[in-house]
Amino acid sequence: MFDALTDRLEEAWKKLRGQNIITHANIQETLKEVRRALLEADVNLQVVKDFIADIEKSAIGVKVIQGVNPGQQFIKVVYEELVKVMGESNSPLAKAESDPTVILMVGLQGTGKTTATAKLAHYLKKQKQSCLMVAADIYRPAAIDQLKTLGQQIEVPVFELGNQENPVNIALQGVNKAKEIEADVVIIDTAGRLQIDQGMMLELTQIKESINPHDTLLVVDAMTGQEAANLAQTFHEKIKITGTILTKMDGDTRGGAALSVRKVSGQPIKFVGVGEKIEALQPFYPDRMASRILNMGDILTLVEKAQEEIDFSDMEQLQSKILDAKFDFNDFLKQTRLMKSMGSFSNILKMVPGLNKINTKDIEKGENELKRTEAMIGSMTLEERKDPDLLAKSPSRRYRIAKGSGYSETEISKLIKNFTRMRTMMQQLGNGGMPGMGGGMPG
Ligand code: GDP
Repeated sequence: MFDALTDRLEEAWKKLRGQNIITHANIQETLKEVRRALLEADVNLQVVKDFIADIEKSAIGVKVIQGVNPGQQFIKVVYEELVKVMGESNSPLAKAESDPTVILMVGLQGTGKTTATAKLAHYLKKQKQSCLMVAADIYRPAAIDQLKTLGQQIEVPVFELGNQENPVNIALQGVNKAKEIEADVVIIDTAGRLQIDQGMMLELTQIKESINPHDTLLVVDAMTGQEAANLAQTFHEKIKITGTILTKMDGDTRGGAALSVRKVSGQPIKFVGVGEKIEALQPFYPDRMASRILNMGDILTLVEKAQEEIDFSDMEQLQSKILDAKFDFNDFLKQTRLMKSMGSFSNILKMVPGLNKINTKDIEKGENELKRTEAMIGSMTLEERKDPDLLAKSPSRRYRIAKGSGYSETEISKLIKNFTRMRTMMQQLGNGGMPGMGGGMPG
């Protein structure tokens, strides 16, 4: 995400190297570089102009601080302006005073509206809120089925009346259904078009008037750059939105959308979509995004994700098993799934400072390795999973697993050997010793 912009901004600081103080004269080259970087990232021209004027004003006003070089000072100024341009702080979802909170999803076709509806329901469910999704997109042939499938996957009910009913009626009945089942939140997926047309706007206006949503979220595709911001502006003028969800931020996004939407439309980005998987949705934090753009990593998002997804009692149990060397293949599977529930490896690693440029090939290799291991464990009996030593002793068991999983006997043997070695190592660590040092630290 934003790699090109990040690289270009890094180039910009370099122009201040060797300077003792930021002046109007010596900052011009750097500003030009920043301007170029932003324009190449497809940021809206007016946003770029204001941005440059603001950082110039702030940077020149900054007093020289001992031990901080002008480049570092400049980065701090840019960071603060980036945060400002993206809306200062996180804009949470609206909350109804009496349930349910009604969220209307709008946007053009193909932007990821239906996916975002389900991602949002999944996100809210994790926050212990009960949801109902309403399928009011009656025009795109597969939209209702798609929402139903996603609903099953995340175990969130879907209200639908087929594709013959009027969408206004579907939305209204959907909200009534949500009241009836006492859902905390009802999310309505509406029909998009390939481009803005009057029919769509009229339909959305009618739906809005009849259900009076607390939030009207426009789903826009980050890959379309500043066009996403223009779209947000138009939708806001026509039907009044309360925020946006920026999807496909995991793609080769240049940054124009994230940096332009707020300023151009006046409406905040509330969430970002960072992948096709259902858990790939994050609340949008301008400060975190700014630090990511400036390559300062995004530890906060990582920590929050870890807190959300991990059941700590599970973790403690695993830990004590590890220390007692009772760690078996079942625990291994459990641990793998815990990690996976946080998203793909590459998504997790991208958030760690300094690792966001890690070779994705290496990550894929690691992910593939885990998949292989899971397949092999899948072919073991419960008894074998509980007692890996059974396998170490029995070639016929290893042969059977090889046949069942489609891997060679050598590969099965290697897995068991590695697993046993890991277990011994962990046990030594748990006993306060260092692996391979005969146990016990010197002294
Ligand atoms: P709709 O027509 O707006 O309802 O769009 P869909 O929800 O059907 O999504 C269109 C395509 O975009 C699908 O293939 C989704 O998997 C994909 N998609 C949606 N959100 C994201 C995202 O955040 N990242 C990526 N890479 N793909 C996404």
